[in-house]
Amino acid sequence: MNQDQPKGTVAIVGSGIIGITTALELQEAGYQVTLFDKTEPATETSYGNASFLAIELIDPQATVGNIVSAVKQLFSENAALKVTPDHLLSFIPWSIKFLKEVASSRQDKSRKAIVALNKHSINAWKSLLNRSNCEEMVRKSGYLQVWEKSSSIKQAENCQKALQAQGIECEILKDAAVFEKEPALSRDIKHALYCPESVQLLDPYETAVALFDRFVQQGGNFKQSEVKQISTPNQRVGLSTSSGDFDFDKLVVCAGVWSKKLLEQLGLDIPLVAERGYHLTFPESPVKFKRLIMSADRHVMLTPLKTGMRITGFAEFANVDSKPVAKRYDTLSKHINAIIPNFDADKQQPSKWMGNRSTLPDSLPVIDLHPEHPQIGMVFGHQHLGLTQAPISAKIITALIDGDKSNQTLADFKDVLSSFSVNRF
Ligand SMILES: Cc1cc2nc3c(=O)[nH]c(=O)nc-3n(C[C@H](O)[C@H](O)[C@H](O)COP(=O)(O)OP(=O)(O)OC[C@H]3O[C@@H](n4cnc5c(N)ncnc54)[C@H](O)[C@@H]3O)c2cc1C
Repeated sequence: MNQDQPKGTVAIVGSGIIGITTALELQEAGYQVTLFDKTEPATETSYGNASFLAIELIDPQATVGNIVSAVKQLFSENAALKVTPDHLLSFIPWSIKFLKEVASSRQDKSRKAIVALNKHSINAWKSLLNRSNCEEMVRKSGYLQVWEKSSSIKQAENCQKALQAQGIECEILKDAAVFEKEPALSRDIKHALYCPESVQLLDPYETAVALFDRFVQQGGNFKQSEVKQISTPNQRVGLSTSSGDFDFDKLVVCAGVWSKKLLEQLGLDIPLVAERGYHLTFPESPVKFKRLIMSADRHVMLTPLKTGMRITGFAEFANVDSKPVAKRYDTLSKHINAIIPNFDADKQQPSKWMGNRSTLPDSLPVIDLHPEHPQIGMVFGHQHLGLTQAPISAKIITALIDGDKSNQTLADFKDVLSSFSVNRF
C-alpha cells in the first residue's frame, strides 16, 4: 500500500462484509478509500449469518428438485421457502426469470461460476485474515449434513458424488457413527454426509468488525451517511449523501439488496430481490456442537459460534425494509428442539435477527463495471454465499477497477467473468 501517493480516491457504498473486504483490497492496491454506510459497519445481512465458508454449496437455487420441494411445502406453516403476502405481485416477474434458469444448460453455467468462486474462496479468506492479523477468526470445524428419513439415503449419496467430483472430501455416516461425531443430536437422524475439512468463521460480525478496524488503522475513512444520489460528472463520481456532497475518482456499489434502487438512477434495471433469513442465537446454550450441522429435511443450519449456538433458516421473499415475521422465530425454536432433544429453546433467551440476502434469478452475484460509466464498480447479489465469496469477489472487482489486464485473478476467472455481468438478464 502506498498512502503517500494514492492511485486515486474510491468511495464504497455499503460496509457489509462485501464492502469491507473490497475496501481492504482497494487500499492494498494503492487507493485512498472511503466507506459509506447508513448504519454502523456490518450490522445488516453480514451481522447474523450462519458463518459457514460454504464452498460445499455449489448448486444454483433454480433446480427442479428445489421447485418440487417448494410446491410440496406451499401450504405448510414450517416451510422453509416463503413469499410474504404483500410481496406476491412484485414477486411474479422475478419468479418467471427464476424458472427460466431451470434449463440444464443455464444451471451448468451457473454451477461452473459458483464453483470457480468457491474454489478460490478459502484461500482468499485465509490470506486476507493473515494480512490483517486476524488469522484466529477462522476454524476448520467440519460439516455434517443430516437426514431424518432412511429413504433419503439416495439424496445423501448424490450429494456425496457431486462434492467428490469437486475434490471435496466427504463420507456417509449411518446411525451410531453420526452420534459418535455429535452425541447431542436427535436419534431420529438416520444418516449424515460428513465433510471433515469444512471451515467456518468464529463469528461473522466480530470478523467483519476486526477487518473494518484494520481498514481504519491503515488510513481508510468511514462516513456513517446514507448515499442518496450518484452522479457521473467528467468521468468522475459525485455522491449526494445525508451528510453532504462528495466527489471521488471511482465508486464501488456494495450495498447488498439496496444496490438495486441506487443503480436505477444510473439506468440499470437489475432483478435483485430480498431473500430473507432469520436466526436465533443462544449465548448460554447447554449444547455446543463441534461442527456445523445442516438439517436437509428442515432446511436449517446450526453453527457453534464464539458468541453462542446459532440456528439459521428460511428463504423468505419479501419487500425490502418490511418488518420481520415474528412466527418464523417460533419455527426455528421448534426445529432446534427437534434436532437437540431436551434443548428447551423457550426456556432460554436467544437473540432474534432477520437479514436480507440479495439474490438474482441465476444465484450468481454481479461483479462488474457499469457498462457506460466504467469508473463505477458493482459487487452484490451473493445470495446464500456472500460471506464465503466476499474476499475473492473483492479481488476481482479491484482488478477490474484497476484495469490491469495482466492481473492473475482476472486470468483465473476469464472463463466465467461474463457470468457476473450486470447486463446478463
Ligand atoms: C440467515 C442467513 C444465513 C446466511 N449464512 C451464510 C453463510 O453461512 N455463509 C455465507 O457465505 N453466506 C451466508 N449468508 C449470506 C451472507 O450473509 C450475505 O450474502 C452477505 O452478508 C452479504 O453481504 P453484503 O455486504 O453484500 O450485504 P450487507 O451486509 O447487507 O451490507 C450492505 C450494506 O449497505 C448499506 N447500504 C445500503 N444502501 C445504502 C445507502 N444508500 N447508503 C449507505 N449505505 C447503504 C447497508 O446499510 C448495509 O450495511 C446468510 C444470509 C442469511 C440471511
